[in-house]
Amino acid sequence: MPKNKVDILLVGAGVMSATLGTLLARLDPSLKIVMVERLNTVAHESTHSLNNAGTGHAGYCELNYTPQNADGSIEIKRALAINAGFEVSLQFWSYLVENHVLPEPHQFINPIPHQNFVWGDKDVAFLRKRFELLSKHHLFKEMEYSEDPAVLRKWMPLVMSHRDPGQTVAATQVKHGSDIDFGSLTRHMVKSLKKHSNFELLLGHSIENLKQQSNGRWKVSVKERHTDALKTLDAGFVFLGAGGGALPLLQKSGLPESKGYGGFPVSGQWLICKNPEIVKRHHTKVYGKAPSGSPPMSVPHLDARIIDGQPALIFGPYAGFTTKFLKEGSIFDLFGSMKAGNLKPMMNVALDNLDLTRYLIKGGMQSHKERVASLAQFYADAKEDEWSLASAGHRVQIIKYCADKGGKLEFGTEIIASKDGTLASLLGASPGASISVLAMLEVIERCFKKQFKAAEWQHKLKEMIPSYGESLDDNETLLNAVRHRTRTTLGLDQRNTKHKD
Ligand SMILES: Cc1cc2nc3c(=O)[nH]c(=O)nc-3n(C[C@H](O)[C@H](O)[C@H](O)COP(=O)(O)OP(=O)(O)OC[C@H]3O[C@@H](n4cnc5c(N)ncnc54)[C@H](O)[C@@H]3O)c2cc1C
Repeated sequence: MPKNKVDILLVGAGVMSATLGTLLARLDPSLKIVMVERLNTVAHESTHSLNNAGTGHAGYCELNYTPQNADGSIEIKRALAINAGFEVSLQFWSYLVENHVLPEPHQFINPIPHQNFVWGDKDVAFLRKRFELLSKHHLFKEMEYSEDPAVLRKWMPLVMSHRDPGQTVAATQVKHGSDIDFGSLTRHMVKSLKKHSNFELLLGHSIENLKQQSNGRWKVSVKERHTDALKTLDAGFVFLGAGGGALPLLQKSGLPESKGYGGFPVSGQWLICKNPEIVKRHHTKVYGKAPSGSPPMSVPHLDARIIDGQPALIFGPYAGFTTKFLKEGSIFDLFGSMKAGNLKPMMNVALDNLDLTRYLIKGGMQSHKERVASLAQFYADAKEDEWSLASAGHRVQIIKYCADKGGKLEFGTEIIASKDGTLASLLGASPGASISVLAMLEVIERCFKKQFKAAEWQHKLKEMIPSYGESLDDNETLLNAVRHRTRTTLGLDQRNTKHKD
């Protein structure tokens, strides 16, 4: 094959491209794969440890995955699907650990209880009802619930310390939650890919344009950012795993499937604890309820984290208004993404979400004192000088055409694939990295239809993900077997000895 001709072009070196590359290289080691990343480092945008919360999203503590309807009923469908989806990731990572592609699991995943904490009669009633619904299902059978302050003091001592004893409070807990350093996970997957002679990583190169040729292949122009030198790649399949940069590239591809999509960028910030003595006192992820009127991505949480092997304590995120799609993007990103095909949905969403925009503008202008005051709802003794502000990166929410309103804002993740299976892209940010394996399996299923059906690929998929093709949602025996293996292999049953007082 000529040097510039590749089977697979992965755009971006985040968790999505790394996962797809790893899956494809295992399914067919003869594939020639090139990964192109505009930055000089792997996993430096949303996948970077500080640009996400590192929560292994399983629906245990994310209250926005179980929305409440106007009649008071609670939907649990999304939480069940995300939980089962996360189990797929755990199986693949277990396989990679067993096959020495990934290192000792504590280098990228650590066990940590996932908890909810709410106060006030209304939110306590919501949490109780949510617990009753979820804990009946085998996926959530280990969930615990309590309104007893004495129990809560054991579960989350920092949150309960100096709390008004008259306050009505409630909490749930799932002990086998996880904290994931997605940056480390991704760097290890890419490091392993680099050992294959069929894989090449181009750092500091950006994809500038792409055009489909009459033979179905893609002619892609790549710029070396340091020198501005341009080169052309000829790719059989292109994955736009460019995170916030995916939408502009999808638009450049001219695919009819990209019409009607727009992006709504949101910036995020964390408060990071500077006092190691406080860090030592908190060992869980405690998610609250988003204040009424605020967007799902601003659900506040107090997170014990392990980043690069070191314990950390983080609170947030504080969502803010931005027009940039990437951390080092341009303030014109949002305006540049407005095209004839998505103008109507984008204008409709802008008009429909004036409150959200106002909320984000106000959020971005909060003072340190105001931010620490919202932290104090979770940690009453929080002091301004013990916390510093850090960027949590950007996420681009999906704007999509819809017949009734002309356009709607979505908070999930979506795969857009061309009919001929030569290009796929991932838009949106939640539940994000946690379901990267399921998302990339969808890409393979939709874009490699013939190979996917072949016995060889089916056999390999089953080897990598034993539950593949079966429903963990319906099959409790299978779930138990799967969890026994993943928890043992990934060390998720052990207590986190690194993070004790
Ligand atoms: C505040 C926040 C909290 C989050 N918390 C969680 C969480 O707790 N758990 C969870 O599972 N997920 C979480 N997420 C979501 C998760 O971070 C993302 O879903 C995931 O990292 C996306 O990975 P990616 O590979 O698609 O994108 P990225 O990691 O952003 O990678 C895309 C890469 O493409 C590169 N790129 C862009 N344009 C080009 C171009 N033209 N040419 C070449 N390269 C290009 C970028 O430089 C970047 O490196 C969170 C996100 C945010 C913003």
